Amino acid sequence: TFRIASRLATLPKPATIAMAARARELRAEGRDVISLALGQPDFPSPPEAIEAAYAAGLAGDTGYPPIPGQKALIDAIIQKFKRDNDIAATPDRIMVANGGKQVIYNAFTATLEEGDEVIVPAPYWVSYPLIARMLGGKAVEVACREEDGFRPDPSAIKAAITLKTRWLVLNFPNNPTGAILERQDLEAIADVLREAPHVLIMSDEIYEHLTFDGRKHLSLLQVAPDLADRILVINGMAKAYAMTGWRVGFACGPVPLIKAMIAVQGNTTSGVCTLAQAGSVAALNGGLERIEQMRETYQRRRDTMVAALQAIPGLTCAIPEGAFYVYPGVGALLGGTSGNGRVLNTDVDFAEALLDEAYVATVPGTAFGYSPYLRLSCAASDEQLAEACRRLAGFVKAIQ
Ligand code: PLP
Repeated sequence: TFRIASRLATLPKPATIAMAARARELRAEGRDVISLALGQPDFPSPPEAIEAAYAAGLAGDTGYPPIPGQKALIDAIIQKFKRDNDIAATPDRIMVANGGKQVIYNAFTATLEEGDEVIVPAPYWVSYPLIARMLGGKAVEVACREEDGFRPDPSAIKAAITLKTRWLVLNFPNNPTGAILERQDLEAIADVLREAPHVLIMSDEIYEHLTFDGRKHLSLLQVAPDLADRILVINGMAKAYAMTGWRVGFACGPVPLIKAMIAVQGNTTSGVCTLAQAGSVAALNGGLERIEQMRETYQRRRDTMVAALQAIPGLTCAIPEGAFYVYPGVGALLGGTSGNGRVLNTDVDFAEALLDEAYVATVPGTAFGYSPYLRLSCAASDEQLAEACRRLAGFVKAIQ
């Protein structure tokens, strides 16, 4: 057999991949599968971004980019941090990468030694522990319980910190729960971090604009500017601007870290597609109106989804404060048997049976390190969401 490097061969396969493969098989058999498994906005990218990318191409902006990012985009990102987060950044604190995901990869590559620990509050977006592990790090989970609004308990973070801790990852608004941190939450976490000066903080704020019921996102860097030499803020074009395929993410962080991340990028991708960068400048400078419309749509869908899910006996569903997912609990239904006779012992069983028997693709909480839940994306049409809830209700009703 072909020999794969152990850093890859020992990585667990994310449940998301298995679910997507099964959904594809069912579709190929002609089944009408509704997929609520992906975190992909169902809106078009801003037309001004597409026009700017096209114009940049015609104007000959097609050579290798500067590795940290093009000046116009770095300037637009500095404006964005000022406008949205009241953070004053200088160009040497900013870098552009191929998506928020590559920012994480660059940061971990630049800093992790074998065995270094990365604290990841769970439930988490699966890429943090997987990228950390791929690079020799060790993920340390801290549970964010539903009773606590899926927010991390600062004392649990404190208890998880060891001399080997290199990073604490914070992702709020959170994927998958939608939880948001309020000022007092951020202040309590900052207090813990002040006592652990060897810990870097990765604050992934990619869902910052998608906040509901009048809530407003606060950046940790805004609340604790004294920790600026340890905080890496991650953001990007994917979610707020519906630009997932453009692969543009960015970071604001301490100068030596950004420098090291640029060195990683110079040895991997050589930077980001020039046309995508030109499009991102136009999108960032295009104002917040488009985002506001998407935000309203996601909030309306969240309301419909939460109401529909709460009406299904046996399911619980907390009200997400942001992002575009719902995360219902299925604990009360475990131990039962599905309509087609499958024993449902875990949320993975539940999600697989739901896909096989009702043709709704979701992601089990196990994939996010926190069970027993399901993540359903609200980035789908109202009709699809309503039909998915009808099918889920039928599936649950058939459980014995
Ligand atoms: N951070 C979180 C929390 C995400 O959910 C995602 C995408 O799903 C990303 C980062 C990565 O986004 P990008 O497409 O910019 O790599």
